Amino acid sequence: MKIYNTLTKQKELFEPTNPGKASMYTCGPTVYGFVHVGNIRSYLFADTLRRYLAYQGYEVKMIKNVTDVGHLTEDDLAQGDSGEDKVAKAAKKEKKTPEEIARFYEADFKEVEKEMNILPAHYFPRATAHVGQMIKIIEKLLEKGHAYEVNGNVFFDVTSFADYGKLSGNTLENLKVGARVEEHPDKKNPWDFALWINAPKEHVLKWESPWSLGYPGWHIECSAMSTEYLGNTIDFHTGGEDNIFPHHEAEIAQTECYTGQKFVKYWLHARHLLMGGEKMSKSKGNLFTLPDIKEKGFSPMDLRTLFLSSHYRSQLDFSWESLEQAHKNLQKINDFVLELELNGKKFEQALGSLAQSMDISGYEKRFGEAMDDDLNTPLALSIVYEMIGEYNRLHADGNFSPEDYGKLLSHWKKMNSVFGLVLQGQAEIPEEIRKLIADREQARKEKDFAKSDDLRSLEDTKEGYKIKQKD
Ligand SMILES: [Zn+2]
Repeated sequence: MKIYNTLTKQKELFEPTNPGKASMYTCGPTVYGFVHVGNIRSYLFADTLRRYLAYQGYEVKMIKNVTDVGHLTEDDLAQGDSGEDKVAKAAKKEKKTPEEIARFYEADFKEVEKEMNILPAHYFPRATAHVGQMIKIIEKLLEKGHAYEVNGNVFFDVTSFADYGKLSGNTLENLKVGARVEEHPDKKNPWDFALWINAPKEHVLKWESPWSLGYPGWHIECSAMSTEYLGNTIDFHTGGEDNIFPHHEAEIAQTECYTGQKFVKYWLHARHLLMGGEKMSKSKGNLFTLPDIKEKGFSPMDLRTLFLSSHYRSQLDFSWESLEQAHKNLQKINDFVLELELNGKKFEQALGSLAQSMDISGYEKRFGEAMDDDLNTPLALSIVYEMIGEYNRLHADGNFSPEDYGKLLSHWKKMNSVFGLVLQGQAEIPEEIRKLIADREQARKEKDFAKSDDLRSLEDTKEGYKIKQKD
């Protein structure tokens, strides 16, 4: 498999640190609000990588942290060392404790992942449970001369790390002429970032440390949790493109200075999801959540299909029209698989001829080639649509061998272990379809968003069952 590495700006062959194994770290949610579809796209891309690694036979270990101490600012250039704690702010607003807020939104995040059929990480460590490890790393960084303490605050000295800027291109040289950054009176260099912050009196979340009663800087938690659970060097680190700077650049600096080893072999980033050509963000008010999607009559799997239909490194402009198209494509796959299941049962007795009507393994081979090329899911999906097209033609002409129902189904299932699409109906299919049609008919009458394509009929022909779209 070749994968685009943000660090080297090229596609590289994946060579695992430990043969047969792959380690992954994904920056998880900051739990003070609902996840939006842009976040979901980024987690779905990490899920696709994980699923494809498993498909290839790697034993994958994936860690996704939960940021339950949220001193972030909206500003893209924020160093995470000013501004109020977002978890505490939400707690105040909703009249709950910070812990209640964090647990509520963490549970909601996990529910969204479940609905999207994103495989749960092997472990979801919480930042608040790892402050001890963070303090240990900060102590070592101070000891090695990569950090300094002023007034109970500890900062990372970016000039002490020659490789600073290697991921984002924001070297100190480039930053000098670039954007302004929030200044902190205790910093030696404006680009130094906070490792530990002396908490103001009104700050709710704070811990004892050798320097002050305070709280950790934003970036340090990921270094603490990734080294704790995955070791000093990990294979993959994923996130959204807005994580590249300063967050991931800071993670590299502090972790490599702490361990003296390479931190991450492959840095992978999903591009932004746009809305009407603009970046989705809370401040612009153009955010959609999964409940918003469902409200419009679409399913989490429609959204999954939409995201798989565009490459993770290309910008995707979200629209209801594109979601409608994804819904139709999913329907096509759904009908195909239902037919294979129904006909596999119907022709169970008729098997015996060894004739093969389709080169089924050829499709799976091409699927693998597409995925090997930097997880090209749109190409992989188009190969599936081509496979369905050939099946439909052969089937309509009576040239499809009953022998192939089972084979086609098992190859599809293998490919779908990577797509992760949850399809409708397995048992009692004819009734299920009839019910489905009735339900959708009703839904169409009630909802503003009509989906006439959902009306399907089931025909029993001598070639086998055929699901037809009604128009
Ligand atoms: Zn992180």
